[in-house]
Amino acid sequence: MRLFFLGLLMIAGQTFGQTSITSSYYLPQDINYDQSIPTPKSVIGHEVGEWHVTHDKLVQYMYALAAASNRISIVSRGKTFEDRPLLLLTITSPDNHKNIESIQSNHIRKTNENVDESDYSNAPIVVYQGFSIHGNEPSGSNAALMVAYYLAAAQGDKIDNLLKNVVILFDPSFNPDGLQRFAYWANTNRNKNLTADSNDREYSEVWPGGRTNHYWFDMNRDWLPVQLPESRARITTFHDWLPNILTDHHEMGTNSTFFFQPGIPERTHPLTPDMNQKLTRKIGTFHAAALDQIGSLYYSEENYDDFYYGKGSTFPDINGSVGILFEQASSRGHIQESDNGLLTFPFTIRNQFTAALSTLDAAVSMRQEILNYQYDFFKSRRDQIHSAKTNAYIVGDDKDVSKMYHFLDILEKHKITVHELAKDATIDGKNFKSGKSYIIPKDQKNEALLNAMFEKRTTFQDSLFYDISAWSFPLAFDLNFSEQANTKMAGNKIEKVILSDGTISSKSNYAYLFEWHDYYAPKLAYRLLKSGVRIKVGNAPFGQNGTNFDYGTIMIPSQNQSMSSDELYQILSSALKGIPVSVTGVSTGTTKGIDLGSGEFSTLKLPRIGLFVGAGVSPYDAGEMWHMLDQRFDIPISKLDVNNLSRMDLSKYDVIIGASMRDVLSDSAQKNLKSWIENGGTFIAYGSTLRWLANKEWLKVKFKSVPLVAKNISFDQRSNFQGAQVIGGAIFNTKIDRSHPINYGLRRDELAVFRNNTIFMEADNNSYNNPIQYTDAPLLSGYISTSNLDSLKGTSALKIQRMGSGKIVGIVNNTTFRAFWFGTNKILLNSIFFREEF
Ligand SMILES: [Zn+2]
Repeated sequence: MRLFFLGLLMIAGQTFGQTSITSSYYLPQDINYDQSIPTPKSVIGHEVGEWHVTHDKLVQYMYALAAASNRISIVSRGKTFEDRPLLLLTITSPDNHKNIESIQSNHIRKTNENVDESDYSNAPIVVYQGFSIHGNEPSGSNAALMVAYYLAAAQGDKIDNLLKNVVILFDPSFNPDGLQRFAYWANTNRNKNLTADSNDREYSEVWPGGRTNHYWFDMNRDWLPVQLPESRARITTFHDWLPNILTDHHEMGTNSTFFFQPGIPERTHPLTPDMNQKLTRKIGTFHAAALDQIGSLYYSEENYDDFYYGKGSTFPDINGSVGILFEQASSRGHIQESDNGLLTFPFTIRNQFTAALSTLDAAVSMRQEILNYQYDFFKSRRDQIHSAKTNAYIVGDDKDVSKMYHFLDILEKHKITVHELAKDATIDGKNFKSGKSYIIPKDQKNEALLNAMFEKRTTFQDSLFYDISAWSFPLAFDLNFSEQANTKMAGNKIEKVILSDGTISSKSNYAYLFEWHDYYAPKLAYRLLKSGVRIKVGNAPFGQNGTNFDYGTIMIPSQNQSMSSDELYQILSSALKGIPVSVTGVSTGTTKGIDLGSGEFSTLKLPRIGLFVGAGVSPYDAGEMWHMLDQRFDIPISKLDVNNLSRMDLSKYDVIIGASMRDVLSDSAQKNLKSWIENGGTFIAYGSTLRWLANKEWLKVKFKSVPLVAKNISFDQRSNFQGAQVIGGAIFNTKIDRSHPINYGLRRDELAVFRNNTIFMEADNNSYNNPIQYTDAPLLSGYISTSNLDSLKGTSALKIQRMGSGKIVGIVNNTTFRAFWFGTNKILLNSIFFREEF
C-alpha cells in the first residue's frame, strides 16, 4: 500500500515535469540493500525511468554490477550487426557460482538420462529472463537495471533463499540495436516539462522505428530459424542450459494494462504439452498476487496466442521449458495520456520489475514441480516405444551445397543430430545422392522440436493466428525430402557444418562453366562482374563430355577478356572463396545443344540496385531484401527514401526494388519512376505495390476479390469471422516454368512459396506469361479460409510487364521471408541478374 501511495506521488510529480523519481519507487522497502553495490544512478547518471537508458549505458551498468557483486558473472556472447555486445549475466548465490559448471552439467544430465528424483531435489531451477526484444518496448530493459540491482544488492533470508535455489540467466537487452534507436528517439524528443499529449512528436517515431534490429527484422520471430546474430547467441545459451522458465518482457498499446500468459487456450500449439499450460497458469497466480499488491490492473488468457515456435515465449514450450510472455501498456516515451489516466514510463517499468520478481518467487515455490516437468518431458520421450526406433527423415539437394549448409546450420544450432547418407537411395520415388543428402534420426533428444520444425499441418482448432500458421523448413528450403527413411541408411555423424570453397576442374584457355543451382552462384557471378570479367548466361540446357548443364548456366570465355587467361584463372580461384560452386574448365565450344558461341548465350552486366525504403514501405520486407543482398551476397544497394524520390537521378540504377508498399509517391516522384522504367529500368514490385501499379495501369493485371458474406455471425463473433479471412502466413504449391529466366537454378517443376496476403492475381491467358502459377490444390501447410483457397487456385504468383524500354516484375509473395525462406530467394536474384533475358 505504501508503495502504491509512492507511485501516485510520482505520477502527480511528473505531470509538472518534476522528475522526482527515486529507486524506492521500484524496490521493496522492507529489506536492506548492500551499500557497496552501485545503484543504477551512480553509474548511468540518472534515475531509472527519468530518461530512456541507452544500450551503452546499460552495458556500463551491467559490467559495474558484475565487478561489484560476487552474485553475478558476465559475458559477451557476440555482437549485433551494429557491433553492440550481446550480454549474459549469470546471477546466483556465491556458493552456486563456485560450482556453476557442475550445476550446469547436472542440470543437463537429467535431460539426457534417467536419474533418481533425489539426484536433483536440491538442485537449483534455471530461469532465463530476457527484456525488450522489441526495442521500442523499452520498459523491460529499463526494468532490467532495477532487477539486476535488486538481485545484487538485496539483503536477508528471502534473497538468500532465492539465489540458493535459482540460477538466473539474465539477458538485459534482447535487441540492443533497436533499444538504442528508440532511446535516441524518446530522449531527443523529451520535453523538460514532460507532456502527456499523444500528438507530441515524442510518441510517434520516424520510420522504421525501434521495434526491429539493424536490418529491420522482428527479432521475436527468429527463435526457430536462428538467422540473426542476436538469436544465435541466445539460442546457444538456451540449449547449453535448457532453462526451466524463460520470460519475455514486451509492451502493447498505451490504453491497455498488463498481460501475462497463458494466452487464449485454443490458440496454443497442439504439440505443446497440457502440463506446460497448467504450469504457466500456476506461475500466473504469482504475477497476479504481486500486481494486486501494487494496485496494477492486469489480465490473462485473452488476446495473445502460443502457437508459432519462433517466438520467445513459445519456443521454450517445445523444449521442456515454460515460456512466458509479458505485455505492458506502453508509454512509448516518458508520459502519455491513456484510457487509464496518465501512464508514466516509471509506472511501466515498475510493473515489469514486479513481474520479473514474481517470476522468481514462482520459480522458488514451484522449483521441484517445474524441475520434475522438464525431467518427465525428456524421459517420456526416451520411454516412448517407437514403432521403430530406426525411423528417420532424409533431406538433400544434389546441386545446392550452400543451401544445404544453411539448412544444416539451423539444425546444428538446435543441437539436432544429423548423419551423412551412406549410399545413394530412392525413397518415395525420389532419388537421394550420398554426399548431398542427410539422414536425421527421429529418435533423438530434441525430437519434439525437430517435429515442430518439419511437420505440415492443414487442420486447426482455431482460425485466428497472431502470426504465421506454417513454417515447415524442408518446404521453405525447397528440399528433396522424405519422412520414410531409416537410420540404417546413416553414415558418419556430422560434427560441424562449414561452407567450403568452390573448385575448378581444370585451368582452361577456352572457357569455364558453372551452373546456377547453388544458392551462392549469384554471389560468384557478382564477384566476377565486379572484377571486370565478362560472363554470359546460357538460355537453354546443353551437354558436354557426358555432363549436362541446365538452364541458366554461366559461361566465362577465357579469351578476349581484359585480363590474361592466367589472371582470369587467379580471379576465378579467389572468387570461389567460401562459395562451394563447381566450375568446369572446357576446351571446346562444341556441345550437345547450344554451342558456347550461340546467340542463346547473352552477356550479363553488373547490376546497380536501388531499394525503396521509408514511410509507406514495409520495413520488414525491405529489411529482409537489404539483409539478403548485403549480408549474404555482398551486393551493395542504395536505400532510396521514397519521400525524396522526385529529386533523385534514377539513371544511376539498373534495378529498383519496391518491397510491399502503399501508394505514397507524389506525382513528381511517380513521373520520375515511370520515365526511369520507360528508359530501360527494371522495377521489381512486391505485394501491395502491385495494387497501386494496377490502379495506375502500369501493370495490366486483374485481381480476384473474394465475396465475404457473414451469414449467422453474431456481433460478438464479428472480429473472429473477419480474422479468419486473414492469411497470416501459410505455404502453398506452385508449378513453375523452368525455362523462364525467372526460375533458373530451380530444380523441380514445383515450388513451395510463402504467402501472407490476399492478393490473388489472375493468370495471363498466354501460359508462357505465367512462369510461377498456383496449382489447383495449392495448400501445403498452414491456415487459409475455404473461400480464399478457392480464389487462390490457378492464380499467378508473378507477372512481367514491359513498359517502354523497361519492365515491371510484379511478384505477389514475399520471396525473402524472415531470412529463412531460402527456397524462393533466387526469384529476386534472377529478376536482378537476368533482367535482360525476359
Ligand atoms: Zn513486443
